[in-house]
Amino acid sequence: MRAAVFYEVGKPLAVEDVELAPPRGGEVLVRIAATGVCHSDLHYIKGDLTMPLPVVLGHEAAGVVETVGPGVDSVRPGDHVVLLFAPACGHCRYCDGGRPHLCEMRYRVRGKMPDGTSRLRLGDQELHHFTCVSSWAEQAVVPESGVLPIPKDVPLTIAALLGCAVTTGVGAVVNTARVRPGTSVAVFGLGGVGLNVVQGARIAGAVTIVGIDLLDHRLEAARRFGATHAINARAGDPVQAVLDVTNGGADYAFEVIGRAATVRQAVDSVARGGVAVAVGLPPAREEMVLPGPSFVLNEKTLRACFYGSARLRDDIPRLLSLYGAGRLMLDELVTASYALERVNEAVEALDRGDGLRSILQMSAA
Ligand SMILES: [Zn+2]
Ligand SMILES: [Zn+2]
Repeated sequence: MRAAVFYEVGKPLAVEDVELAPPRGGEVLVRIAATGVCHSDLHYIKGDLTMPLPVVLGHEAAGVVETVGPGVDSVRPGDHVVLLFAPACGHCRYCDGGRPHLCEMRYRVRGKMPDGTSRLRLGDQELHHFTCVSSWAEQAVVPESGVLPIPKDVPLTIAALLGCAVTTGVGAVVNTARVRPGTSVAVFGLGGVGLNVVQGARIAGAVTIVGIDLLDHRLEAARRFGATHAINARAGDPVQAVLDVTNGGADYAFEVIGRAATVRQAVDSVARGGVAVAVGLPPAREEMVLPGPSFVLNEKTLRACFYGSARLRDDIPRLLSLYGAGRLMLDELVTASYALERVNEAVEALDRGDGLRSILQMSAA
């Protein structure tokens, strides 16, 4: 199969013919239909975060089950599925505690399948898996717990977005922060995830939704997704702007960039008793610094959000219901689609901040 292989920081990905071994027990082979290009992938390509190389990246995808390994009973060939980048064992303290997105398995599988081996190979070189997804390829072998069946009438391009951006963004609002109706929300960073924080806040009933970004086209998009105010951070102090439009501070602020400086801005933007949520994945060695006395005296909260704090098997069907009811805007998120062979163009466009969400579309699916 064709796959985009990442060999070295600073070098373009190579789209090559790669061998994919068949699924073993408890594994599923998925023919990828569409896969998103996300900032988390870019972090590794730029060397902001590291993982074992060479690797096939891609963690936001949907496709069609082609074959299943022994013991798989939750999906069968022909099923349409969303791929989940937090496979869950179902019996660790986190799975038992109702937080399967924090399952121990994810911390063990760095670059491998859960059994510690790889299904990906190029000649005599073993390739690494990425988050048990590795979807920048025509096919992927993934754990059974890493696929969620969806109705066949959902376009697979749209379904792919549920693998990361939508679930993370909306989940940060409804699961991590539990935004209440009638409140005010500030969102720092309006990329693919940030726009989903904006529409999550609209769906949750926030009445003041302030979007902050450096790019005017994203500020315009944020208004379409539900922002009541759009602030270009180049035009002045964004914290002061949020304080001004929220009568002294937002009830909630979300940082969807992954930088300590903007996490600090989010904390500074919330009112007394307010909640700031760090959603963006920071580069390695980035440290977050809080304002000591004002953080305590104003009883603020800073929470982190991984994968929307989502119970994926419960949340994704509800997100699809919201989409079906016309309340969750997904078609509007996809602003560019590329063939796998053009993956490097898609990555460069993401780095420049072009468009909203780019999709790699596989021709065979
Ligand atoms: Zn992502
Ligand atoms: Zn577990």
